[in-house]
Amino acid sequence: MSSDDSSPKRISDIVERLAGLFTDRGGELYGGEAVTQLEHALQAAQLAEQEDRPSHEIVSALLHDVGHLIHDLGDDCAERGIDDIHERAGSDWLESEAGFHGAVTQPVRLHVPAKRFLCAVDADYHASLSEASQLSLSLQGGPFTDDEVAAFRKTPYSESAVRLRTWDDKAKIPGLPTPSLQHFLSLIDPSMFVPT
Ligand code: FE
Repeated sequence: MSSDDSSPKRISDIVERLAGLFTDRGGELYGGEAVTQLEHALQAAQLAEQEDRPSHEIVSALLHDVGHLIHDLGDDCAERGIDDIHERAGSDWLESEAGFHGAVTQPVRLHVPAKRFLCAVDADYHASLSEASQLSLSLQGGPFTDDEVAAFRKTPYSESAVRLRTWDDKAKIPGLPTPSLQHFLSLIDPSMFVPT
């Protein structure tokens, strides 16, 4: 990467690429739910903003399922027994292609492990998951063991990932009004990128 990775020009390029991904793929249904990928992303970001979380957490919430927008497995792959590993594809893309810092990428990477963590530590949590989310949980490895819970607690950004998970789970309301994609993309600033 060049020395101007966090320059305004590079940020505007990244914002443009992200806007393009949502334009091209954001209208697809969010697997097994009654909202689109774009609606889901905007609702997750809105929940983060409503809790007055810092901008990097709001942007992480907006982009947490970008992995779904960069693969070609279809929106029903969980129903077909395929785990698309979208959390890794998404965080890898945000890190290597866009240059985002771990404060943005790690909650994305950990938002599926956070579900496995919450299922292990909160008896009511599993029951609260939607049918689609319960189905994907088994493909994702099921609830964490005690050792996995302990390791997760020590993982950097795991608390942020648990917050993201709770927004993710709620961001499935058909027709809910939200701010625009542009509103949330405008929160992206140089501090969210790895310095070079
Ligand atoms: Fe999600």
